Amino acid sequence: MSVYVWQCRKCSHQVNKDSGPNNSGCPKGGSHDWNRLAEAGLTDYLCEKCNTQVKTGSQPSNSGCPSGSSHRWNKL
Ligand SMILES: [Zn+2]
Ligand SMILES: [Zn+2]
Repeated sequence: MSVYVWQCRKCSHQVNKDSGPNNSGCPKGGSHDWNRLAEAGLTDYLCEKCNTQVKTGSQPSNSGCPSGSSHRWNKL
């Protein structure tokens, strides 16, 4: 089964999991708002807007940047 990198667009928290992580207990209040970035992998990407670093197999999704409308990923 594939493992995906998920990020909450409210608190920036990151989780590697096959399906959507638990929504409860977002530190920003209410429930986490998970966004699926990409399949987990070995390539490092850094978003220059929210400073999120992820390890994925391909370019992560641009949607759901906690610092604005869309992530701006740079391959490290
Ligand atoms: Zn959250
Ligand atoms: Zn971002």
